Amino acid sequence: MNYYSLNHQAPNVSFREATIQGQAPDKGLYFPETIPTVDPLVIKNCKDYTKEELAMLVMQPYVGDAIDEKSLFRIVSETIGFDFPLVQVNDRISSLELFHGPTLAFKDVGARFMSRCLGYFSQQATGKVTVLVATSGDTGGAVANGFLGVEGVEVVILYPSGKVSPVQELQLTTCGQNIKALEVSGSFDDCQAMVKDAFMDADLNKALQLTSANSINVARWLPQQLYYFFAYQQWQDKGQPPVIAVPSGNFGNICAGLLAHVSGLPVKHFIAACNVNDAVPGYLRTGNYAAKTAVPTISNAMDVGSPSNFIRVMELFGSRYETIKEKISGYTVTDDTTRQTIADVYRQYGYVLDPHGAVAYHALQEYLGEHPEQAGFILETAHPVKFPDTVEAMIGKKIEVPASAQHLFGLEKKSIAMKASFAELKEWLLRG
Ligand SMILES: *Cc1c(COP(=O)(O)O)cnc(C)c1O
Repeated sequence: MNYYSLNHQAPNVSFREATIQGQAPDKGLYFPETIPTVDPLVIKNCKDYTKEELAMLVMQPYVGDAIDEKSLFRIVSETIGFDFPLVQVNDRISSLELFHGPTLAFKDVGARFMSRCLGYFSQQATGKVTVLVATSGDTGGAVANGFLGVEGVEVVILYPSGKVSPVQELQLTTCGQNIKALEVSGSFDDCQAMVKDAFMDADLNKALQLTSANSINVARWLPQQLYYFFAYQQWQDKGQPPVIAVPSGNFGNICAGLLAHVSGLPVKHFIAACNVNDAVPGYLRTGNYAAKTAVPTISNAMDVGSPSNFIRVMELFGSRYETIKEKISGYTVTDDTTRQTIADVYRQYGYVLDPHGAVAYHALQEYLGEHPEQAGFILETAHPVKFPDTVEAMIGKKIEVPASAQHLFGLEKKSIAMKASFAELKEWLLRG
């Protein structure tokens, strides 16, 4: 499989090059030349396959000969070595829990796959790779955990000071070794802009082999398809295809779901559930796309004013507004409604949502209200314990910290303070 740049001013490259570069030299996002089809018989009999077998069938066409089959099987198995349960909340809504990985959020899948691919490629490449990544919350922890100790890879994480939760901050500032955390006095969009400037800077590109671990990187974006397939293994017996509500920020996750669907996975409809940072729901309502300045909310991993992956959604559907509108509905959910949803769902069904899952839940509930014959599930993208202040206030009790996260509270935060200034970032990176 080769990948082309969505700016069309750079040569097509293999999966290996696309992963190492992150972004194309013309600043475009890479996109697969063809969308592979998953054999309909495999989908029909998906329960007969193990997660690993299914994952290989989905990922191998995207990787091509960039990674040998045995190594890819190892990488895939390590990536998905935890559960993806589809839990019934009520008779029409289920929750696909994507928070059973090491950092308690869905980003573990993409980060673990990408880190292992880069580790594999760096055995063959000469010189070290520097991964530069901006995080609005969960990316940082997942990337830090996924890349910790990977030889030949240095990781620099930029995060907005005071705008991530305590568990999120600990996850990304306590690793040490090859992981550095830069605490930026600014917003996520500031962090993302600094990272983008770095990729365009000639001096930095001469001094370092830079790559991105944001979902613009194909190795982080593409494996997110897998949990839609794992969900279908558990959904299939219900009969009709599901409506899937995805809490969306940078639109990498929902775009991966759409890709899975175009490859043959049965899905009735997609819901792009956003907080008030709703550039895409605005587009779906009006046909006009306008990026916004990000506003802080209680679902902070979705505080993205200008979602980078939306251009991939457009490409997938030939930029046809009518087609896109048929497949995806957009919802805007305020913080008040999000809080109310957490309280209501706990009171009615005893199920604890995190703020991101609650945004999706509310959107799905609205949609199903207008489509009484349908049913579906939300992607519950983070464990509620990552947002204790909001969630505990709504359910009226403490959330237990899972055993896998308890050790974090004994560790010391280590971050490097930085202004929201590219010049400062550049100087720091060049100093090594
Ligand atoms: C990153 C994140 C999102 C948004 O995912 P995108 O792929 O950026 O749309 C939603 N929920 C949580 C908990 C996240 O960490």
